[in-house]
Amino acid sequence: MSQHSKILLIYTGGTIGMMNDPKTGRLKTFDFENLYKHIPELKQFKYSIDVDSIKNPIDSSEMNVSNWADIASTIFDNYNNYDGFVILHGTDTMAFTASALSFMLQGLKKPVIFTGSQLPIGKIRTDGKENLITAIEIAGLKNDKGEGLIQEVAIYFEYSLYRGNRASKVSANHFEAFDSPNFLPLAVAGVDIEFNYNNFFKTNKHKLELFTDFNTDIALLKLYPSMPISLIDDILNLQKYKAVIIEAFGSGNSFFNKSFYEKLNAFTSKNGIVIIITQCTKGLVKIGKYESSKLFIECDAINGKDCTTEAVITKTMYALGKFKRKNERIDFLSKSCVGEQTD
Ligand code: ASP
Repeated sequence: MSQHSKILLIYTGGTIGMMNDPKTGRLKTFDFENLYKHIPELKQFKYSIDVDSIKNPIDSSEMNVSNWADIASTIFDNYNNYDGFVILHGTDTMAFTASALSFMLQGLKKPVIFTGSQLPIGKIRTDGKENLITAIEIAGLKNDKGEGLIQEVAIYFEYSLYRGNRASKVSANHFEAFDSPNFLPLAVAGVDIEFNYNNFFKTNKHKLELFTDFNTDIALLKLYPSMPISLIDDILNLQKYKAVIIEAFGSGNSFFNKSFYEKLNAFTSKNGIVIIITQCTKGLVKIGKYESSKLFIECDAINGKDCTTEAVITKTMYALGKFKRKNERIDFLSKSCVGEQTD
């Protein structure tokens, strides 16, 4: 373990920092200073750890683009003063925030590690202590050039370190709350922490860039049998949305419906962008494999490959904010930017 790393711990809310309110019996956020009271082990780190907290810590269900931008800006502003960053965050939308930050903060050469817990830190069986302690340990590790060992946004949870934009919350109540089904974990912590060095993301940018001007004019359409076509009609509406992400069946398939087909073509023949991802947890979209994906070929939909829903939503918000021209947006959305999809 490196002896001299400086870590910035940013508390944003979530179960990890919650306690029971004796009056209501419900969980509520507590003063962040209590974290040290509940994890005295933190004081044993040889790293120096500074603590920051967003103004009003929130349940991660309340997170939005502006919160993502605040967290990203805090990291950007403090980038030169620290070797690594640990973000304490609720688990519910952690994968969205981690994905968003991977696009907002391009050119990272230092670790940004998200963690949280399923049980509040004050509870005797909490998973929060191990998650936090190991997240901090990983955030302080250096490679043999003295740079951060991890140079990307990641999620550490229940003995595994995942690429942030490849991870999803997969369990509402098990300690193994996260998985990255299409990408091997960056590390697995046992007696030793074993790293999958070949899977690490390396940026080709020379310096850290911050871009937070996301555009949220997007819609997510999950297909299901017998869905009302009027719902599709409402969504494929350029007055409301600039991009529509379709969670299709299997390898990118859909039922055929004439009105759906016409609406898709009308949407994409103007300024609209359609991206196809799969409802399956594992595997990737192959538009054209079955006849039932024909309508997506004909409307020039973008193949979202094996992107998670969280990654494709935040990537699209980034693309719409960053690029003004449709062809630039399509170009960006068609390939991997920060390791979020298999090219
Ligand atoms: N509702 C909480 C949140 O996401 C759950 C958690 O932290 O695990 O903030």
